[in-house]
Amino acid sequence: MSKTDKKATVVIVGGGIAGLALGNFLLRKGISCIILERHGREYVEQRQRAGALDAGGVRRLREWGLAEVVEGRSRGDLDSGVPLLIEGERRQWRREDDSEDVDGVFCPQQILVQNLIKVFLRDGGDLRFGAEDVSLHDIDTEHPLVRYRDATGSTKTVSCDFIAGSDGFRGVSRTAVPDDVLTCSAHEFRYAWLTVMTEVPADPPAVLAVHSRGFAAQITRGPSASRLYLQCPLTDTIEQWPDDRIWHELDARFGEPVTPKGPITSKQVVPLRGVVFSPMSYGTLYLLGDAAHLISPMSAEGMSLALHDADVFARAVVQQVENHDSGLLESYSDTCLDHTWQRQAAAVWLTETMHDSGDPSYEGEFRRQIARKNLANMLERPGAGTLPLRAVDPLPQSPEPAAVSTR
Ligand SMILES: Cc1cc2nc3c(=O)[nH]c(=O)nc-3n(C[C@H](O)[C@H](O)[C@H](O)COP(=O)(O)OP(=O)(O)OC[C@H]3O[C@@H](n4cnc5c(N)ncnc54)[C@H](O)[C@@H]3O)c2cc1C
Repeated sequence: MSKTDKKATVVIVGGGIAGLALGNFLLRKGISCIILERHGREYVEQRQRAGALDAGGVRRLREWGLAEVVEGRSRGDLDSGVPLLIEGERRQWRREDDSEDVDGVFCPQQILVQNLIKVFLRDGGDLRFGAEDVSLHDIDTEHPLVRYRDATGSTKTVSCDFIAGSDGFRGVSRTAVPDDVLTCSAHEFRYAWLTVMTEVPADPPAVLAVHSRGFAAQITRGPSASRLYLQCPLTDTIEQWPDDRIWHELDARFGEPVTPKGPITSKQVVPLRGVVFSPMSYGTLYLLGDAAHLISPMSAEGMSLALHDADVFARAVVQQVENHDSGLLESYSDTCLDHTWQRQAAAVWLTETMHDSGDPSYEGEFRRQIARKNLANMLERPGAGTLPLRAVDPLPQSPEPAAVSTR
């Protein structure tokens, strides 16, 4: 039998970057919310994904009083930019965004997740791990409901004013929007990334390579781990990439030996693509982050887009609750789609420039020459994008109210 839980202003489905940021933003404004996360705490805190957060993402967290979650060690040695090896010749790529007065950071996604969870629970937030079979009901009414099965196996129902669907690309929230309302626009690049986790540090924290054998990169994932990226055909499988071949190929594309080498802990072939679902709201359901869009990982902006959506939605809810003004809620989808398309445009340009200027077997020699010119122009500009300068550390342990940390 279903047991009706307390009412919350917002039920947040998914405790990733978008959901945890939103929960923290709302908590700071005294707006009640419950985060429902399908997995256990240990799992989400260890899940390895992104590695960098751009200046816009850092600024948003600071504006909501969450600077502590992106604090870390100073890495001033990156002042001159990120090394970019073009056919083995070393250049410096200084990414800098004129519109931001803060720097981006090297921040393994699991560290940001850990820090957001710590702060949310420390400040009295309601986060329910192990929430299974989440389902959304009556989202086209003013009284939506969210049902889920808790860790004890009992079904709970939460009533709310708004639902934030922040459960990632494969979550359930988006499927609650009728098919004839939602449109999906997607761009598939013609190549994939072999992404590889290794137990070796990256020093400097990021090195990129454009080479006729294909794009390659090594990006830090903390003091003793890094992620390697190798452009590969969409049809490649991890069986075709034994460890020796990975290190050999990285050396070849960098044009110099990569040291140290060490154990490889996971491998995955990820197709590069951009996807946008529209609209990003329906009734009282609002989609945030990867639930609404995927951006090419070359841009390293997925976490930043998730934080953008959380920021816009939190401000809209605050305006509704404090002033009974629904204007920002009504424009939420248009505001976020406009930003998303702007970032998708930049991501497509960067992805094509970095990949097409290397291995011509995907897009041909004409595209290669165009991409090489774009690359040269990019390197001659005084700066574009964001330069990550610091590495974010986990927050120290602090007392958390045990009653709300597990359900
Ligand atoms: C290889 C790779 C490299 C990347 N590099 C970068 C980078 O450097 N910088 C960057 O900014 N971005 C990067 N990204 C993208 C970034 O990881 C995502 O954009 C980001 O995780 C989106 O956050 P989110 O909160 O929207 O979704 P997610 O992080 O996917 O969080 C969704 C949450 O919802 C939970 N959930 C799912 N289904 C349910 C359900 N039914 N009920 C309840 N909970 C559910 C999940 O367990 C998860 O915790 C990269 C991605 C990849 C794949």
